[in-house]
Amino acid sequence: MRCNKCAAESEVLETRKSAPWVRRTRLCFNGHKFVTYEVYSGNIDRGTRDATVRGLKAVSLANQRRLRVKNGAVKTASQLARELGITEARVRQIRKELL
Ligand SMILES: [Zn+2]
Repeated sequence: MRCNKCAAESEVLETRKSAPWVRRTRLCFNGHKFVTYEVYSGNIDRGTRDATVRGLKAVSLANQRRLRVKNGAVKTASQLARELGITEARVRQIRKELL
């Protein structure tokens, strides 16, 4: 599992089985500690599973956009907004968050 902060691989420090999920504490090779939950897909209803997948895709898309804004620092807000299909206000908001 890759680290959410730096994308380095991680190792499992601790695994706790508390049905219906497994909770794992992980440590990436750059020292970031984080927690993951593992759930058997058969234990969640279809609606919850689909909503979770949609949520994860939305988070992933938001992270990709954040990265594009960060790497496109020399571009104007309107240029980036056009490229990413988001508003200029959102580009400025992401820039502020990155400072
Ligand atoms: Zn990390």
